Amino acid sequence: MGWVDTHCHLQLDGRPPLELIERASNVDWLVVPGVDATSSQAAIDLATRNPGRVMATAGLHPHDAARWPQEEDKIVALAGQASAIGETGLDFYRNLSPRPEQEKAFAAHIDLACRFDLPLVVHCRDAFETTFAMLEEAAMGESAVLHCWTGGPRWTRRFLELGCTFSFAGPVAFETGDTVRGGAALVPPDRALVETDTPYLAPPPHRGEPNEPAWVALVGAALGKVWGLEGDEVARRTAANAARVFRR
Ligand SMILES: [Zn+2]
Repeated sequence: MGWVDTHCHLQLDGRPPLELIERASNVDWLVVPGVDATSSQAAIDLATRNPGRVMATAGLHPHDAARWPQEEDKIVALAGQASAIGETGLDFYRNLSPRPEQEKAFAAHIDLACRFDLPLVVHCRDAFETTFAMLEEAAMGESAVLHCWTGGPRWTRRFLELGCTFSFAGPVAFETGDTVRGGAALVPPDRALVETDTPYLAPPPHRGEPNEPAWVALVGAALGKVWGLEGDEVARRTAANAARVFRR
């Protein structure tokens, strides 16, 4: 049974992307998100060379939102070749770009997803309130994939009502992941995806190593434990959700 890794930055890693894809014989297809214009272009090139196996997104990561004025034209030009808009969103944990600029760039990405009728890949860290308000105001909940979802029960309930899809990564398998698992327990299996966020957040027993798509099965197994489902069943259901959300 094949997995779908819905978020892996193969183009940000020093390792050759094709080797990582090759090694992931348990993964049917994967989504490579851009984090700026250059990496979005690289993701699109990878998708073009690997049709059916790789999908690409175009966007500017919230960490770099302050660069939106310089990146905007290039990312808008790439949107038509992408399968989704993002990675975008808000990160009020690290605040690497000032909050108002993160909000401005996020709003622009929401508009872009609307305009191109594409799903939106959302990074949300310590920014639940504002992310919720902005998605709600734009009526974009049903197009939003909440990547590496780490919300606990309270915010999970609210984003569920908004119609969002929840993508789970390594933290659902971490020893310290009780809050994430508390949220995951509330997400119905037809609203969940799995991802690795390669090269970051490798799941146990690989913590600290550079992550890779093949290990999405470890994330899926941890999610299955929360739900009381076998890995095969998690793979089947999350792969079907991925195909629907990314419109394959
Ligand atoms: Zn990412």
